[in-house]
Amino acid sequence: MNYTSTRDNSVKVTSAQAIAAGISPDGGLYVPETIPSFSHEELLAIAGVDYRERAVKVLGKYLTDFTAEELRECVDGAYTDTFGGTDVAPVVDIADHRFVLELWHGPTCAFKDMALQLLPHLLTRSVKKTCDGKEIVILVATSGDTGKAALEGFRDVPGTRIMVFYPVEGVSAIQKKQMVTQEGGNVGVCAIKGNFDDAQTGVKRIFTSPDIAAELAAHNMAFSSANSINWGRLAPQIVYYISAYADLMNKGVIKQKGDPINVVVPTGNFGNILAAYYARKMGLPIHRLICASNANNVLTDFIRSGVYDRNRPFHTTISPSMDILISSNLERLIYDLSGCDSVRVKGWMERLAAEGRYEVDDDVKDAVKSLFWAGCCDDNATQNTIREVFTERHYLADTHTAVALNVYDQYVRETGDTLPTVIASTASPYKFAPAVLGAIAPDKTGEDEFAMLEALREVSGAAIPAPLAGLKGKAVRFDRVCEGAAMREAVLDMLSV
Ligand SMILES: *Cc1c(COP(=O)(O)O)cnc(C)c1O
Repeated sequence: MNYTSTRDNSVKVTSAQAIAAGISPDGGLYVPETIPSFSHEELLAIAGVDYRERAVKVLGKYLTDFTAEELRECVDGAYTDTFGGTDVAPVVDIADHRFVLELWHGPTCAFKDMALQLLPHLLTRSVKKTCDGKEIVILVATSGDTGKAALEGFRDVPGTRIMVFYPVEGVSAIQKKQMVTQEGGNVGVCAIKGNFDDAQTGVKRIFTSPDIAAELAAHNMAFSSANSINWGRLAPQIVYYISAYADLMNKGVIKQKGDPINVVVPTGNFGNILAAYYARKMGLPIHRLICASNANNVLTDFIRSGVYDRNRPFHTTISPSMDILISSNLERLIYDLSGCDSVRVKGWMERLAAEGRYEVDDDVKDAVKSLFWAGCCDDNATQNTIREVFTERHYLADTHTAVALNVYDQYVRETGDTLPTVIASTASPYKFAPAVLGAIAPDKTGEDEFAMLEALREVSGAAIPAPLAGLKGKAVRFDRVCEGAAMREAVLDMLSV
């Protein structure tokens, strides 16, 4: 299977080349030339095996230049002893056909671990296959969770260095502490004066700058990306939707071949829900893909109207990992839905860069509307949902998951649809303890985030994940703050080139 670029159909690379490069030189994203299928028989077969085996089966369809043996090594490295001894991605029944797919049992307590524990294994092998022997420099822009998960995934991985940029006011105290205390000899962390979009735009600019690339090449280094624009981030996320469906078969929720489900995803950069779209395209019986946003509801408007318009106020919310106005992976969706028309996609993306706005054609609008449903909610509604779900369903949801639960309620009210529904749960509630505690026991909130972890444990009875409990005593290693315009110097400094 070959990969091409969303902005230039004449591009043809292997999956290893796509993963090693991260982004296509034309600024487009790598996509598979065709989407493979996954049959009912294959679903039956994976229902009987563990998550790692499931991952090997699904990934093998996309990463065809990796042997099954190589994929097994990668998957074993990623998911053995890193997910707290529990199921890698358990499905929890919270009643009324709601099934929460918990994706946060990894080392940094957010769903990013699902892909970022695996990506370093895929990437180092990809670099070997593409044979240039260069040291890989990973640049990451993060709204909070990706940064830590990438640092943890890449720390001390031979042949790699990693540098993370986060918005100085845009991450929670726990997220910040997780990043600035990161251990490892090949890591760097820097705060940016600006928001996530500023950080992401800065990283993209550095990536596509020919003079920096030349500078790195002279030192036998090359950039790659651990953001969800990298295909090596997307592919691992397809696995857990298929795995969740297999679990529902095992639980007897799915009784017959082809029984449909819905999927709800709290969405920011559109990576997670795009993986569900690919799973559907592979043949997984998904009826509706429900896209949940917080007050930054640019995607809600796009799905309803076909107009993408980022010219609007940016809101800082209690679900910061979704505080995004430029959802990069949407480019892959509109590419696919436009019949792989890289000329039209390139035009839309140029308009987005120039005017901050574009409108897709009717064929794409209609396709989006027939597959997706979208909704949003503000912080107040998010906290109300956390309280309601905790008191009525005895389930403690984090702020991002709560946005998904809230939007799903809106969906049911509007459509009356009662199909079994998988709700992606993207972070441990402890990662956003102040807002979660504020929802269920507002009198217990205070200034100290670590005291609030303990308070949340007392109120909820759920255990604090070990990686968060251990953070308090860790020393700060990185305190650099820079302007967006100075990111380039920060990178060159860290690499000492
Ligand atoms: C990254 C993240 C999201 C958004 O995922 P996308 O793939 O960017 O849409 C949602 N919730 C949490 C907790 C996250 O870390």
